[in-house]
Order: sequence, then structure tokens, then C-alpha cells
Amino acid sequence: MSENKKAEKITSVKGMPDILPADAHLWEIFENTAQSILQSYGYQNIRTPIVEETRLFARAIGAVTDIVEKEMYSFEDSMNGDQLTLRPEGTAGVVRAVLEHNLVYDGPKRLWYKGQMFRHERPQRGRYRQFHQFGAEAVGFTGPDIDAELIMLCRRLWDDLGLPEIRLELNSIGDAAERAAHRVDLIKYLEQHEELLDAEAKRRLHTNPLRILDTKNPALQDIVNNAPKLLDYLGEESLKHFEGVKNILDRNAVQYTVNTRLVRGIDYYNRTVFEWVTDQLGAQGTVCAGGRYDPLIEQFGGKPTPAVGFAMGIERLIELMKSAGETAAPNQCDVYLVHQGEEAQMQAFILGERIRDAGLDVILHCATTAGAGSFKSQMKKADGSGASFAIIIGEDEVANNTASVKALRGAEGEQQQASVAFEEVVGYVVDQIIGGDACGDDCDDHHHHH
Ligand code: ATP
Ligand code: MG
Repeated sequence: MSENKKAEKITSVKGMPDILPADAHLWEIFENTAQSILQSYGYQNIRTPIVEETRLFARAIGAVTDIVEKEMYSFEDSMNGDQLTLRPEGTAGVVRAVLEHNLVYDGPKRLWYKGQMFRHERPQRGRYRQFHQFGAEAVGFTGPDIDAELIMLCRRLWDDLGLPEIRLELNSIGDAAERAAHRVDLIKYLEQHEELLDAEAKRRLHTNPLRILDTKNPALQDIVNNAPKLLDYLGEESLKHFEGVKNILDRNAVQYTVNTRLVRGIDYYNRTVFEWVTDQLGAQGTVCAGGRYDPLIEQFGGKPTPAVGFAMGIERLIELMKSAGETAAPNQCDVYLVHQGEEAQMQAFILGERIRDAGLDVILHCATTAGAGSFKSQMKKADGSGASFAIIIGEDEVANNTASVKALRGAEGEQQQASVAFEEVVGYVVDQIIGGDACGDDCDDHHHHH
């Protein structure tokens, strides 16, 4: 700075929060659990770019949807004039990639993805401008069994995460012809009550009247509750599919409510739609939403290929995990290395490398940054790290070619300290931590002991 003035701070963009280390372990638990469940059902990971051509989303999601009308971060590439958009959801990109690489040439594919999504919304609890979704897409599957499979792997995830307060709402929105027939009657009905509709409903009346059905405006609840139900317009095939899904859920003791007003805010859906909702997050209670989108791939120029998928909002699930008490930070390491003196520091550094070679996690007290620190203050840090052992190297240890190994997690009074020959320290702590099986099966929260 040439002027004697403090530099102005630059902060994160509104609605695009940082995820800090204090929360990172919850994200890891969520992602690891979700990934392993998806894997156990045979889903494979796909990673598509965050940026796509704007017209991809306009075509997939539909021109008269909240997302395309007002939520997309679209921009022109200043280098070449391309019209681009930060992805607001994951399905469009996955479907593009499936077609571009002809992934279904040898049969249907089960896929999952995770990552950032961007929507220009009003930031509030559970609603951000950058947020994360974890999603699955089953491409090329016709039957109701795969719809049920997707629903049930969600429930397995809630169970594994300890989140029982998430309930399932289910509906079928039929196919395009059935929706067209319903739409005529729905518009007629809503027109009869037009003076009671709010501005948004009036605007949607002739563009996307189905969306009016999931209005959250309390004043409209009576009107939409009495509106013609799409379920009553379904033909034999759509009904049979819906019965098939419900039958599998029933046989597997999956609870749900049929919500005849459940529609999705994205145009590509047909037949089965579902949402997993909770009452514990205030207004933003939907943690996962999905359904069939059989027409989409043909709309993209592919061969007719049925498909079904879901997307979860990870931020909302992390918040639920927090309120379910999942807060304890895991241990940062297995071993914390305490040292005093220049040669002791070098010995500790060398020892740290050897212990990591053996597969344990080690934090070396950083004397050059934190200052040497008394043994006492270093031991406090060792305790706070959650390590099972502190290894202490001071002048005496250097002179005797030993290290002092102190158990930090034993009951008070039992925290024995042993003097171990330097060459035997690695074997000693590995034995104690892995061989001794100190934590049994309950320590997956802690880390890997390879
Ligand atoms: P909502 O009705 O809450 O706006 P939506 O219908 O726009 O949701 P989808 O496009 O189906 O949501 O996205 C699936 C899930 O992603 C949602 O159920 C929610 O958990 C999460 N999600 C959507 N938008 C946001 C956002 N802006 N911030 C955080 N999570 C979001
Ligand atoms: Mg939305």
C-alpha cells in the first residue's frame, strides 16, 4: 500500500458461503455414506463441467420455469461470445454427457454425481446462490422397480445418517397427453377463481398452471386443494406404473403419502415424482426431489430412452445432521509429536515420517511458527488434537536415544507414560493403536487405520 490506509477486505459473494474445517467432517460423513450406498446399488460416478451452454438448460429445464426465467447465472464468454451458464442443476449435464458419449449403447446406466449448483435466489436459511447437490440418474430403465430402488436408497441413506424425521411424498403426473387434458380443466377451474389468485398464480395461469398447485401461499390452499387432480386423468399405463411403484414400497415397508398436488418445478418430469421432506428446517423442508423424465433424452435428439433420478440438497441435510447431534469433530490425528530443542525437533520430524509410513496420522508440533512452547502448552495442544498418543522428545530423550510415549485417552490416572527406544517407537504405537484395537468397530468416525 502506498497510502497509509488498510487494504479493503474482500469477502465471499453474497449467498455463496464458505464451508469451513469445523463443518468439513460432516460433509465427509455425508459424502462417504452417500457414495458407498450408491455404489452398493451399482451406481457409477460421473463428473460433468460446472459450465454448460445456456441453451442446454433452457431446453432441458423448460423456458417457463423459475430456474430458467430468473435464477440462472448466464454470461457471455468475453473471449468468443459463447452463451454460457453456471449449472443450476445436474440432470441436464448428465444427460448431455450420456448422449455425447453414447453411454447407453450397451444397455441402461446407473449414475451418480455431486457438486456445486448455482441459482440466483434470495439467500435465506436452506437457500443459497451456490449450493451442493448429490444426485443419481438411472438412464434407460423403464419399469417402476428402478423408481422404487432410487427411493429406497434414499431411505437407506437417511437411516445410515441417523435422520429418521424425513418423510416421503409421492405422486404421478402422468404423461404429456394426460397432463394436457388435465390442464384444460385446471385452467377452466382456476379462471373461475381468478380474482382470488395472487400475482404469481395469475402470471402462471396460462403458462404453467400445474405449478400453481404447489403454491405455498396460505390464501390459495383451499382453491388448489379443490382443483382437478391430475391423478384422476391418468390412463391405464401411467396408473399401472404408479401402482407398481407403490406396491414395491409397500412390500418393503416404506412409508409414504400420496400428495396429489406434488408437481415438480422442472418441465422434464413425467409419471413418478417424489420429494423427501422434513418439518425441522422451516420453510426449506425439501431435502431431496426426484422423478421420471422419460421424454428428455428424445428432446435432446437421442433415441427414446426412459430415465429417472433425484437430487438432494446437501446443505439442508448437513443442517439436519447437526440438529440430530452429529457435531463431535473427529480426532485430527492418532499421534501428536511434542519436542523441545533443535535436535529433538529433527528427531521428531524423522519419527513423524516413519509413523505416517506405518499408516497413522501424525501432527508435528510446529515450533518455527507456534514458538517452541513449554512442554505443558504443547501437551495441551496434543490433548486438543484428539490424538491417542503424545510422543515427547526432549533433551533427555535425545541423549538416551529414546522417546516418551504417553497415552492420552486412557481413564484419568491410567495415562501411563513409557520410555521407548527410538528405533522401537513406531512398532510400539502401531501395536497400541492398531494391534490393540483400541476402538473396535465404532471408530469409522475416526479415520482409517490402513
Ligand atoms: P425449492 O422448492 O426448495 O426451491 P426446487 O424445486 O427448486 O426446490 P430442485 O431443483 O428439485 O429444487 O433441487 C433439488 C434439491 O436441491 C431441493 O430439494 C433442495 O434440497 C436443494 N436446493 C434447491 N435449490 C437450493 C438452493 N438455492 N439452496 C440450497 N439447496 C437447494
Ligand atoms: Mg427452487
